[in-house]
Amino acid sequence: MTVWDEVVGQERQVGPLRAAIDDPGSMTHAWLITGPPGSGRSYAARAFAAALQCERGGCGECRACTTALSGSHADVTLVATEKVTISIDEVRDLIGLAATSPSQGRWRVIVVEDADRMTERTSNVLLKSIEEPPARTVWVLCAPSPQDVAVTIRSRCRIVGLRTPDPQDVAHLLTERDGIEPALALECALAAQSHIGIARRLARNPDARARRDQVLALATDIRGVGDAIFAAADLVEVADADAKAATEERDAEEKAQLMTTLGVEDGGRIPPALRAQLRQLEEDQKRRATRHKRDVLDRAITDLMSLYRDVAVAQTGATVPMVNLAHEGHVRDLAERTTLADTMRCLDALGTARERLAGNVAPLLALEAMALDLRPRTPSRR
Ligand SMILES: [Zn+2]
Repeated sequence: MTVWDEVVGQERQVGPLRAAIDDPGSMTHAWLITGPPGSGRSYAARAFAAALQCERGGCGECRACTTALSGSHADVTLVATEKVTISIDEVRDLIGLAATSPSQGRWRVIVVEDADRMTERTSNVLLKSIEEPPARTVWVLCAPSPQDVAVTIRSRCRIVGLRTPDPQDVAHLLTERDGIEPALALECALAAQSHIGIARRLARNPDARARRDQVLALATDIRGVGDAIFAAADLVEVADADAKAATEERDAEEKAQLMTTLGVEDGGRIPPALRAQLRQLEEDQKRRATRHKRDVLDRAITDLMSLYRDVAVAQTGATVPMVNLAHEGHVRDLAERTTLADTMRCLDALGTARERLAGNVAPLLALEAMALDLRPRTPSRR
């Protein structure tokens, strides 16, 4: 298995990256890897970094490959941010690093996983280094689409556009790499709509599957106003708990680290001059938790949309495969007791809720309105 085998279903798409490895003449110093969430763009970037360092062009087994993939290779820098934006200081540090020669590897590779999170001003700082890169430095930027990156940057990069992989390919990867039983692997690949990370989490974590099932059950559980209000509150609570679990430990670590850096003793009083820095950190952490919570809610809504999409498929008699295979009974039941117009109305309500969340409407308000709209309108036809 080479490093490229895990870039699922993108043989043609990664062609230019592989060609640059095989023929140094076609090497470029700035790349932009784009693709929808879950298409594996950050994995593709790391595979490329590994292939650049490996003596055998990305064997997947040597030390250069394994350390480049895991992010511990001395000459491969992976920048992933949980923050809303990548700061100008972070980019300045990277540019300083880009100017140095690789210490042991063949190239200095800098992978920026969320290049879409740079402000215009930060992008302009980066631009200089991308325009005149040192001879052995390679920048690999990742973003959902080329339009998410400043035009000045993207016009200087070679663009590699990944696509949404086929669910069968994702299932195959889960079976091969993670040892997931094939039927479950396919069920999860479909449920995740080919998002590799989510498919893997569903396949390996029964709790994640149970939470998803709980979300999907909303489609049939909401009958009246009371159900709708409770369902909305439940969803927000699940998202809160998820965000808390994901960020709490890290927040505490970051705070302890900052205190050490500032020279404040454990539990000691913080001198007034340093309070601003602590406040800044706390604000960043709060923003991160909010973002995580919104991501969880957005995922829940996307899951519900996939269920109504299946209902619409059943109602129109289309022959495309179902996303929620494990919920087929549920889907058929809804398809029978509602009309296609109902289904479309529910899909609209879900779409509106997503837009409101993205537009910073209070989550509970957006979800209550959504849950109320999901109530059945037509009396049961049975
Ligand atoms: Zn190797």
